[in-house]
Amino acid sequence: MSRPHLPHDSEDMSKHVVILGGGTAGTMTANRLHRAYDERDIRITVVDQDDDHVYQPGLLFLPFGPAQPHHLVRSRRRQLNTAIDYKRARIERVDLSERTVSLDGGS
Ligand SMILES: Cc1cc2nc3c(=O)[nH]c(=O)nc-3n(C[C@H](O)[C@H](O)[C@H](O)COP(=O)(O)OP(=O)(O)OC[C@H]3O[C@@H](n4cnc5c(N)ncnc54)[C@H](O)[C@@H]3O)c2cc1C
Repeated sequence: MSRPHLPHDSEDMSKHVVILGGGTAGTMTANRLHRAYDERDIRITVVDQDDDHVYQPGLLFLPFGPAQPHHLVRSRRRQLNTAIDYKRARIERVDLSERTVSLDGGS
C-alpha cells in the first residue's frame, strides 16, 4: 500500500513535526508517523530532556525482586527510527501563535 502524501504550502516544502517529550506517547507517535508518511514529505524531531526511557509498568516489580532497574531503562534515541531526529534538551517555552519552541541553551 502506498503511503499518503501530505498537503504542502508549496511544492518544495516538507512538513516538520516536532514532538515534545520522548516518553511512550511521543515515541509511538514519532515511529508511527514515520511509517505512515513518505520521508520526503515529513521531517520528524523528538525533543526530550534526557535519554532514559523508563518502562513505567515494570516499576511495580522492582520492590519484589523480579526486575532490576537496568532492565527497565532504554535509550530514547534507540527506540526511534534512525530517520527521526532526536534533540536532547529541556523545553522551556512553547509559543503556539509563533509556532516556536524554546529549548534550554537558547536553541
Ligand atoms: C508504576 C506504574 C505502572 C503503570 N502501569 C501501566 C499499565 O499497566 N498499563 C498502562 O497502559 N499504563 C501504565 N502506566 C502508565 C504509563 O506508564 C504512562 O501512562 C505512560 O508512560 C505515559 O506516557 P507519556 O509519553 O504520556 O508520558 P511520559 O512517559 O511521562 O513522557 C513524558 C516525557 O516528556 C519529557 N519531558 C517532560 N517535561 C519536559 C521538558 N520541560 N523538557 C524536555 N522534556 C520533558 C519527560 O522526560 C518524558 O520523557 C503505569 C505507570 C506507572 C508509574
